[in-house]
Amino acid sequence: MAHQLLLATRNKGKIEEFRRILDAIAPGEIELIGLESFPDLHDVVEDGSTFQENAIKKAREMSIASGIPAIADDSGLCVDFLNGDPGIYSARWAGTHGNDQANLEKLLLELKDVGDDKRTAHFTCVAALAMPDGRSHVEEGLFHGHILHAAVGQEGFGYDPIFQPLGMSISSAQMSPQEKDAISHRGKALRLIAPHVIQMLRSLG
Ligand code: IMP
Repeated sequence: MAHQLLLATRNKGKIEEFRRILDAIAPGEIELIGLESFPDLHDVVEDGSTFQENAIKKAREMSIASGIPAIADDSGLCVDFLNGDPGIYSARWAGTHGNDQANLEKLLLELKDVGDDKRTAHFTCVAALAMPDGRSHVEEGLFHGHILHAAVGQEGFGYDPIFQPLGMSISSAQMSPQEKDAISHRGKALRLIAPHVIQMLRSLG
C-alpha cells in the first residue's frame, strides 16, 4: 500500500510539482495528500526568524495535527543590497500578505537608484519533512540572479517579473513552469529532499 504524505500547502502548483518529482524517483509509492483533505487544520503562524524555522514549524505542526508525515516549504527573495531583505518577509513586504504587485513595486522603488552590478539577489527555498515520531529532515535550494528595473513577463508569481536568473536574458516570469522548475530554488529543494522522504517513509515498513 502507498505511504501517505501530507504536503502542507494550498498551492496546487506546488503539489503537482512535488508529485512529478516523487513519481519520477519512486513511482506509485507515495500518496501525496493536500491540506484540502484536512479541512479542520488551521494555518500555522509563520513567526520563525529563518526560512528553516518556519518550514520545520509548519511541517511539525501539520504532522502532529494530521497524524501522518508532512512536508512544508518556506521561501522568499533575498536581495544583497538590502542585506537579505525581504527574505522571510517576502510575501508581506508591502504590508498586506500576498499582494504580489505591491511587493514588487516596493522593491523596485527601494532599488531605484541602485546600479546593475549591485542588484544581485537569490530566491531561497527550505523544504522540511516531519515524521509523527519526531524525526525530521531539512534541505535548501537557491536560485541566483538579479533584480530588473521594470516588470516583464506574465508567467509565475510573486517577484518573478523583476527577477532575471543568472546567465539568462529573460525574467523568470517569461519561463514556462517546467523550465523554471528545472533551475528554481523550489525545484532544487524538493529534488534534494525527495530521496530522504522516500527513505523515511520506507522505514515505516
Ligand atoms: P511562500 O514560501 O510560498 O510563502 O512564498 C513566500 C513569498 O516569496 C511569495 O509570496 C513570493 O512573494 C516570494 N516567492 C517565493 N518563491 C517565489 C518564486 O518562485 N517566484 C517569485 N516569488 C517567489
